[in-house]
Amino acid sequence: MTGTDPEPGIVYLVGSGPGDPGLLTVRARRLLDEADVVLHDKLPGPEILSTIPDERREDVGKRAGGERTSQEYTNDRLVELARAGNSVVRLKGGDPFVFGRGGEEVEHLARAGVPFEIVPGVSSAVAGPAVAGIPVTHRDHASSVSIVTGHEDPTKPESTVDWEALAATGGTIVVLMGVGRLSAYTAALREAGMAGDTPVALVERATWPDTRVATGTLDTAVRVRDETGVEPPAVTVIGEVAASRERCVALLEGRGGRNATADRTTAASDTRNAESREEGASDG
Ligand code: SAH
Repeated sequence: MTGTDPEPGIVYLVGSGPGDPGLLTVRARRLLDEADVVLHDKLPGPEILSTIPDERREDVGKRAGGERTSQEYTNDRLVELARAGNSVVRLKGGDPFVFGRGGEEVEHLARAGVPFEIVPGVSSAVAGPAVAGIPVTHRDHASSVSIVTGHEDPTKPESTVDWEALAATGGTIVVLMGVGRLSAYTAALREAGMAGDTPVALVERATWPDTRVATGTLDTAVRVRDETGVEPPAVTVIGEVAASRERCVALLEGRGGRNATADRTTAASDTRNAESREEGASDG
């Protein structure tokens, strides 16, 4: 280093939680307020993103023209900004290490010798179901929960999610990035012997102002998705616990809290392809 090199910066890999600013950790809030620059995509949601001044944030989710920013660009930009002496927040939806490519970014930073810190967040995998009145575990209904990606084709040999094994566990299955391929994996679970009347819930934009919840079963989930127009980002909850919402909803509605806005769905006329929407909305 020469005398003119700036003090080395640092990258904070921060989870935003599902979108409600009240579900940011105290540390995340402080870092967002103090950072020189915040790199983010759309997943933290409009309420959190609107608290960060435009001149201090960079959207690496989509670039002008609607093209998706490459992971390489984001990796390199983080290193560049930190080496220029900045305090950088890389803000990720939910928790940075749950399907957020946080692992890849951290490895890149480590290789580049850039100091970093991980700030965990509230994952949509647990919080999404929760705010819809669905506990992912329940003493009577589910003693385990599996969090899987729905983004790959279950019929392809290279699929790394073992739907057959999941069907056999009897626990709750939470699928992230699972709107587009809903029909493929619900069919795979049916084929693996799971009952067609197993409860399913889709929780869209959990904790965002325009959140929606749709409920059905393994047999009806696709129809429910299409009729209601549920779109990404949404979590799919499969298992007995998904019926808890029905039991809880009367109570939730009577209380007027934020959770109560996780209302039954309204039909949407959006006919865009569900799968292509997934690409844009997911964070990895
Ligand atoms: N790191 C994130 C997940 C990133 S993968 C986390 O821990 O939550 C992107 C997927 O997360 C989306 O396709 C969707 O399945 C889910 N997701 C993220 N935020 C969500 C929200 N507010 N409501 C519903 N699903 C959400």
